[in-house]
This record gives sequence, structure tokens and C-alpha cells, in this order.
Amino acid sequence: MDKKVKNLVVGCGLSGTVIANKIATELKEPVLIIDSKEHIAGTCYDYKDSSGITVHKYGPHIFRTNSKEVWDYLSQYTDWYPFMHNVLGIVDGIEIPIPFNLISLHKVFPKPLADKIEIKLLQEFGYNKKVPILELKKTNDEDLHYLAEYIYEKVFLGYTLKQWGLSPEELDPSVTGSVPVYISKDCRYFQEKYQGIPRNGYTKMFERLLENPLIEIKLKTRYEDIKDTISYERLFYTGAIEEFFNYKHGKLPYRSLDIKIEKFACEKFQNAPVVNYPENYDFTRIAEYKYFLSEHSNVSIVSFEYPEGFEEGKNERIYPILNQETQKIYNLYQQEAQALQNTYFLGRLGAYRYYDMNRTILGAFETFAKIKG
Ligand SMILES: Cc1cc2nc3c(=O)[nH]c(=O)nc-3n(C[C@H](O)[C@H](O)[C@H](O)COP(=O)(O)OP(=O)(O)OC[C@H]3O[C@@H](n4cnc5c(N)ncnc54)[C@H](O)[C@@H]3O)c2cc1C
Repeated sequence: MDKKVKNLVVGCGLSGTVIANKIATELKEPVLIIDSKEHIAGTCYDYKDSSGITVHKYGPHIFRTNSKEVWDYLSQYTDWYPFMHNVLGIVDGIEIPIPFNLISLHKVFPKPLADKIEIKLLQEFGYNKKVPILELKKTNDEDLHYLAEYIYEKVFLGYTLKQWGLSPEELDPSVTGSVPVYISKDCRYFQEKYQGIPRNGYTKMFERLLENPLIEIKLKTRYEDIKDTISYERLFYTGAIEEFFNYKHGKLPYRSLDIKIEKFACEKFQNAPVVNYPENYDFTRIAEYKYFLSEHSNVSIVSFEYPEGFEEGKNERIYPILNQETQKIYNLYQQEAQALQNTYFLGRLGAYRYYDMNRTILGAFETFAKIKG
């Protein structure tokens, strides 16, 4: 063995960075953190373009949490730009708030019809309720049925087919039915208590989380390439669990994204930070980056998201394709993982789940609690 370390963390994304930070600051133990990428921050990585606009390389990231513990923890390493996300969707050529709410209702339907449906929604379910369209269909009311069909067809179906590359028949009805109508005028995309964007960007926040003499970082380093030359007391692995076990139980499928970033010679490209395109084009959505930190420039930078299948070496693992079959395969890997001593799998790729940043941080806290004892 060439090198001996106390703690080896594979992956310098959010989960790897948080566990490294906790070990260094609270246990005061040394940590080596490696990443195959040429930058820190994993999927949260952002950078400042020459125009002064902060761009999220892997797609738009908005931080939100209901956990004061998580918010206070990150707030030690960043100031926040208070940002409440809002999303528009182009439906029948009209911009409407997403999720579909009372404002969307009045934008797409003529006033008499919108008024009639609004009254029925309020009478049947009350104000400030999120009602799955499956629930709407269960009522005996033909207008509410019509609304459910409309949302399904115009807002949900096209977007989901593009996102998952499926035909309508392949869609699980439970997913379809959970799409809500929000009986509210609340146009925030998220309702969590704490929402924001790190004021100097995510990458700067990560730099500060990792700023500790006990943390050593090695980029452009794959675990597979160094594992035979290094020994450790504990391993924290935030890469794909199936890759760690050399795919012995088979591959776990993912959807990926081809994110095309473009600069336009205009001050404002669109009317919201994110605009969804359920009906037109092959991309699902466009994000415009200057919104997130209210940055000013006479150009604007946007990203187009084209969903595609995951292919090793070509693109990133983004959305796990969860079904009974893949869950069974994952469980086999998880059993193997649990049998290993002093080895911890964490993060979205260790859990084969779509985790938002809040869930990712809580996962790292849970792992840390295990080793802290
Ligand atoms: C398009 C998109 C938009 C999102 N938007 C939001 C949002 O608005 N709000 C929100 O809360 N969350 C959002 N998320 C989720 C957020 O990105 C994740 O919660 C978070 O990045 C997960 O961190 P992680 O450390 O688990 O994974 P990652 O960030 O993927 O980090 C894993 C790291 O491990 C490295 N690695 C893997 N295998 C190896 C290996 N064998 N050797 C060396 N290094 C390895 C990888 O290079 C990577 O850097 C979004 C995700 C995507 C994809």
C-alpha cells in the first residue's frame, strides 16, 4: 500500500463534502476526499461566466429546506440570496404558473368557465388544498373531470413522456394520478420555510465547507484507479453503488440529461427562472440563470434540458428509473453494502434515489451520527 488514510471519501459532491466537513470539524480527524471530476461540488457545481452571470453547469439548483438544523449548518458557510422559485409552463401557447393553480385556471379558460370551475373546486375541496387529478376524477362533476383531463393532457403528459422516454401506456397510473391542481394563488414552486441561493454561488459554499487543514482533496482521481494503492480505516462512498460492486448483480438504469448552455444577446430571455415546455420541442425546460442571484448583464445565459438515456462514459446518472425490478437489484447491492465493515454508502448514487439537497445533507448527517456513536 502506498498511502494510508484515516477517512477516505469518494465523491466531492454535496454528500461527500458534508461528511468530510463533519469529520474534520467535529471529530478533528484527517480526511482524503477524491473525485473523478476536475471540479468540486459534484452536481451542484456552478461558475461565473465572463458576462458575470453565475451558471449551474448541471441544471438549475434552488436550495430549500424545512429543517432549521440544515439551514443553520449551511449558513455557517454561505450568505443567502433569498430566492423563491417560480416556474411557468407554456400550455396552448399561454404562459401559466406551474403547478397548475387558480391563476393558471383563469389564464387558460374563458372567464365564465374558469369562474364556474373555481367555485366548484372551492366548494368541493376548500382553499389552499393540493388535489391530485385522480381525486378530481372521482367526483361526479363533469367540469372537474374536464379540468383533470386538461391538466393531464396539457401539463403532465408531454413533459413526462419526454422526461422518461416512455409511451403513455407505459406510464404508471399512480404517477399520473398524483399530479395536483393547487387550489390557491400561491405561485411559489416550493413551499419550504427556508429557500435561497448561496449568495456567492454553490461552488464558493463548497470551498468554504472544505476549507480545513485536515481535509485533503484530490480531483481527477477515480476510486477504481487508486483503491489498490490506498488503505483506510473508514470509507465513505458517494458514487454509484452498482459500480462499487462491479455490477455483479446487474446494471441499475437511469435517465440522464443533455444540458445545452447558450448565451443570447438580450437582457431577458423569458418571464421566469424556469419555463416548462410540455407540448412543444424536444427539451423539457429552459432555465435562465441571471434570475437566481438577480445578476445584471446585457446578455443572458440559458440552458435547454434534453432528457436522454444514461450511457456510461457519455453522460451523467441523473434520475434513477425506479420500479420493482430495479428495486430488487438495488436491494441486493444494499445487502452487500451492509455486510461491509467501516464502509458507508451515501448520497443520491449510493441510495439509488433522486435526493434533493436537503435530503442529501440529512443523509450525510445520519451517516455521521453512526460513526460519531
Ligand atoms: C438537473 C438537476 C437539478 C437539480 N435541482 C435541484 C434543486 O433545485 N434543488 C435541490 O435541492 N436539489 C436539486 N438537485 C439535486 C442535487 O443535485 C443533489 O441532491 C445533490 O447534488 C446530490 O449530491 P451527491 O453528493 O449525492 O451526488 P453528486 O453531486 O452526484 O456527487 C457525487 C460525486 O461523486 C463523484 N464520483 C462518483 N463515482 C466516483 C468514483 N468512482 N471515483 C471518484 N469520484 C466519483 C462524482 O464525480 C460526483 O462529483 C438537482 C439535480 C439535478 C441533476
